[in-house]
Amino acid sequence: MSSLAIDPRTEISAKARELHFRSLVVDTHTDTTQRFIYGDFDLGERHADGSVDIPRMREGGLGAIFFAVWIKGTATGPKAVERALAQIEAIRRQVAAHPKDLAPARTAADIRRARATGRIAVLTAIEGGHMMNRDLGVLREFAALGVSYMTLTHMQNTEWADASTDKPAHNGLSDFGNQALGEMNRLGMIVDVSHVSDKTLSDVLAVSEAPVFASHSSCQALCRTPRNLSDEMIEALAARGGVVQINFHMGFLSQEFRDAQKARPELEMQVETEAKKRCGEDGACQLLESDKIVRAFVAEGKLPRVDWTAIVNHIDHAVEVAGVDHVGLGSDFDGAEMPFGMEDASCLPRITEALLQRGYSETEIEKILGGNALRLMQDVEAAAKFKRGNNA
Ligand SMILES: [Zn+2]
Repeated sequence: MSSLAIDPRTEISAKARELHFRSLVVDTHTDTTQRFIYGDFDLGERHADGSVDIPRMREGGLGAIFFAVWIKGTATGPKAVERALAQIEAIRRQVAAHPKDLAPARTAADIRRARATGRIAVLTAIEGGHMMNRDLGVLREFAALGVSYMTLTHMQNTEWADASTDKPAHNGLSDFGNQALGEMNRLGMIVDVSHVSDKTLSDVLAVSEAPVFASHSSCQALCRTPRNLSDEMIEALAARGGVVQINFHMGFLSQEFRDAQKARPELEMQVETEAKKRCGEDGACQLLESDKIVRAFVAEGKLPRVDWTAIVNHIDHAVEVAGVDHVGLGSDFDGAEMPFGMEDASCLPRITEALLQRGYSETEIEKILGGNALRLMQDVEAAAKFKRGNNA
């Protein structure tokens, strides 16, 4: 089985193509930053591996991309801050190296300006509140450096918020968590509830003055994993003006795949061991190699194949639960295992084609592709007390 992406340009209808490339397509979560900090990765070149580079973003009609700053949740303290700042700088360097193709962005208006000049907007996100080291000053520094959102936790609890994949320690959000949230609201930084526990999410919805989003989560009703959102949570998020950005990871899309993975834990061990053997300490390489190894397992019949259309099933479900104004795209490219047919950013137009075929109107599709994410950004910015530019 070939892992080469089929050229979506030749596969989709003229109508879908026109609609897709006219829309502002926004992907609110990718892990490509991990590639920036190892070796000499250049976003301007087309790469045979991974999912994101400028040529493939162009082919996929991507208008804005959020690069996540990420270190393991177990890494804390000043060192965590230092490493986060280094990743923010690495993103800035990639943008600076490609001024014709990329524009640094933080707000919805920045994204529209980038589009008007024919460039892809690049936004920065902090994936895990542990990187602020329980210090609101660091949070303000992140905001000043252009960080658009912060995911409150990663897999582990932070000192002030419970994660969905850890044992509850704070009964949701602690008092300091409330303070951090208040500061994020004030700064106009989007609160990201992907990775947090249900109780943390309820607490967030109770205290946040601005709507929040899940930058890369899918639906528990279709695939039971703590990383996905229950219908109840999707409804609650939407009721407060929030958006769920569907994650493309095979293990979050397909119950069959997840069950098969659970039934054979030795496979996961093999993936880990083999990826480490191939990559050493290079975390970016480990992420990409894990994807390749898992795909090889699928080819060998050890795990079921998950087709890219599963993404559209999750979009359908979230729309059914929350309405068409509360759903978008948060791929997790370069940080997860992509379904077949959605190997990289160039495959994104397929989603537009599928949505047209499923009867969505052009206006609805534009919302899902990026309009809803932009609206959320504007709402968060409007609720902020600390307007951008006020500190000049
Ligand atoms: Zn994540």
